Amino acid sequence: MKKFDISALPNDEGYFGEYGGQIIPPELKKVMDEICDAYLKIKDTDEFQDELHDLYQHYVGRPSPIFYAKRLSKKIGGAKILFKREDLNHTGAHKINHCLGEALLAKHMGKTKVLAETGAGQHGVALATACALVGIDCEIHMGEIDIEKEHPNVTKMKILGCKLVPVSRGTKTLKDAVDSAFEEYLRDPVNFIYAIGSVVGPHPFPMMVRDFQSVVGKEARQQCLDQYGKLPDIAMACVGGGSNAIGLFTAFLDDESVELIGVEPAGKGLETPDNAATLTLGSKGGLHGFECYILQDEKGDPLPVYSIASGLDYPGVGPQHCYLKDIGRVKYVSIDDNECLDAFMTLSRTEGLIPALESAHAVAYAMKIAKDLDQDKTILVNLSGRGDKDADFVANKLNL
Ligand SMILES: *Cc1c(COP(=O)(O)O)cnc(C)c1O
Repeated sequence: MKKFDISALPNDEGYFGEYGGQIIPPELKKVMDEICDAYLKIKDTDEFQDELHDLYQHYVGRPSPIFYAKRLSKKIGGAKILFKREDLNHTGAHKINHCLGEALLAKHMGKTKVLAETGAGQHGVALATACALVGIDCEIHMGEIDIEKEHPNVTKMKILGCKLVPVSRGTKTLKDAVDSAFEEYLRDPVNFIYAIGSVVGPHPFPMMVRDFQSVVGKEARQQCLDQYGKLPDIAMACVGGGSNAIGLFTAFLDDESVELIGVEPAGKGLETPDNAATLTLGSKGGLHGFECYILQDEKGDPLPVYSIASGLDYPGVGPQHCYLKDIGRVKYVSIDDNECLDAFMTLSRTEGLIPALESAHAVAYAMKIAKDLDQDKTILVNLSGRGDKDADFVANKLNL
């Protein structure tokens, strides 16, 4: 098998194989190149690394532990299931890892405002948190319907001091929030920065967000060696845009013995239009400034997508995942809403861990394959976030 020198990817134009790049107007390309130059200049300096890792340790609570889910593994009867506990991070998920990196970079570059959109509010809360900490203005655009639905996150963003801009146009949801935030960004891209919430968007974001998230896999790999004396046989994570998955996978790309699996949302079923299984069903196209697999209609417009986990319903996916799929290094599978709900409840009741619905997709796939594996095999699952945000929704849905 080929060796994967991650420092060699992407290439200078931001391509992972034929995916990624910068499909943007020249004015914006200039700004993205400046961000890239600034990032490459500071990323390996002691000052930046010390500042970031000090925050990871004392603010986020890293390293997050690896937990052996004994009762769950026994119940299923097969491989050992281990969880990387990103749910224990401050703000409750992996997103804080890259939001802190983006906020620090913005400060180092002298930017005056950090902008972003948010759907369910997870990215908004993590970014507002990072900006409050670093001391930089933050403006989050959010559709009015989402504001209605995601009340606790809206309240948190307000308390954290970010400017929340309600978006009343179009469908009043994520897509319109992206357009609205992007228009504001274009008013002054030199002084503002658009903080993308996953390993998507134009170069350098897929690379930068991956680098910030790679702490997850780096820790996990060492923890497996220290605690179990060996690498896991399989490592898996859910894939929306793909940031928590690439964060885990990066450390294991060169370990040929470790099988890597990304789990996409099959929603109401792959045979229905209500899913977001981009790598499973999509085809090559362009979206939000980069090239990737997308779920698209005949005209190349992104299809409406759906998942029970709002953090996973994106019609595109990070360019590095597209590349890893094509070369066969990572296998991408899917889990539907019902399997996700079942895993959500099973994990809650056998281990006392309420997972985010996003993370429950990875848990569900681990449960599905563990029973056919020997007991000396280990599956490492990235528990990307906790399920506080989903508890009421699930309780209503299941009439608890
Ligand atoms: C946002 C989110 C995801 C999906 O984003 P990725 O970029 O694919 O990781 C997964 N899990 C949780 C808990 C999230 O909040």
